[in-house]
Amino acid sequence: MTDPSPRPATAAVRAGLGSDTAYHAVVPPIYLSTTYSFADLDHRGEFDYSRSHNPTRRLLSQALADLEGGAGASVTGSGLGAITATLHALTTVGDLVLAPHDCYGGTWRLFEAFAQAGLIHVEWADFADPAVTDVIAAREPALVWLETPSNPLLRITDIAAVAAAAHAVDAVVAADNTFLSPALQNPLALGADVVIHSTTKYLNGHSDVVGGAVVAASAPAAEDIHWWCNTLGVTAGAFDSYLTLRGLRTLHRRVAAHCANAAAIVAALEGHPKVAALHYPGRPGHPGHAVAARQQRGFGGMVSFDLGSEAAARAFLGRLRFFSVAESLGGVESLACHPGLMTHAAMPPDVQAAAGITPGLVRLSVGIEDEHDLVADVLAALD
Ligand SMILES: *Cc1c(COP(=O)(O)O)cnc(C)c1O
Repeated sequence: MTDPSPRPATAAVRAGLGSDTAYHAVVPPIYLSTTYSFADLDHRGEFDYSRSHNPTRRLLSQALADLEGGAGASVTGSGLGAITATLHALTTVGDLVLAPHDCYGGTWRLFEAFAQAGLIHVEWADFADPAVTDVIAAREPALVWLETPSNPLLRITDIAAVAAAAHAVDAVVAADNTFLSPALQNPLALGADVVIHSTTKYLNGHSDVVGGAVVAASAPAAEDIHWWCNTLGVTAGAFDSYLTLRGLRTLHRRVAAHCANAAAIVAALEGHPKVAALHYPGRPGHPGHAVAARQQRGFGGMVSFDLGSEAAARAFLGRLRFFSVAESLGGVESLACHPGLMTHAAMPPDVQAAAGITPGLVRLSVGIEDEHDLVADVLAALD
């Protein structure tokens, strides 16, 4: 009998441990060297130049491929670098890409820029609407892009249903799993072909590295995406890879704390007279609750709610003590933002309105501080 493979939380803690054959360091060293010696002109070693391959970055990519259940992964200098390489690898000139109308703003800008440059055609659809599968069948895109839960309203896409509809028209499916991380959702197991991460968020988890990753279900796709990462020059540096691998060790424990704290805040806000709308997929009343409960292992650390007016939102954000008013998400520290004025400010008001981004909307990235402090802080800031 072979030993069972470690469970994900064990694999994350132990990723790359014991790999140092020179000194048997428990924690793997950082290989900062840009270049590696050839044994002789006919024999290049496993590594030659760090843009192409680097031992530290490789440990992180192996860990991420493992956690997402993929054949291989590429680690990039940003989430958008990962998305750029993925687009180049999965599309050819003139291909149609179907993507969520409420996807991450940087993704929206990148896809529009690719379309402007004549590389792809892009169409936007509502992926929280089950009828998106009819859109896929009718439009027959080459690439279907999805992101779930969405930002900032935490709408849910049924990954298995979208993947089945996409595969029926021979489309490739890419899923941005940044908001949940592999601790809570594995899109490849639900039928996606490729998973993208901004490791800047939960995977690193300490708000001190900008990075990204692409994990592919098949080895040929993983190799092709790696070829593009090397060719475009978007692979990550060794030090950032080291920090992200360190952050990854605590992913499962951190995510459990994020989920518990977010649920406690949602429970405290339930029925609160100042809260006009509360968005959290863990609430039974959330339109995506049943799908989220089926395809996720937890509801995540992101919460958004509407305070009715921009003035109320400004007053709330100004009174918080344990939430920093800042963009980004997924770090151990709690953050609060006003999507309309901050993360989604580039969207014209009518586009914001269509996407449900109201002037009173605030978004929390709930951290891992003490639950009682966070709940008390949110309630005090509302009063
Ligand atoms: C932050 C983010 C990105 C972009 O990643 P960067 O690391 O900032 O380049 C992509 N998708 C989602 C869902 C994100 O939150």
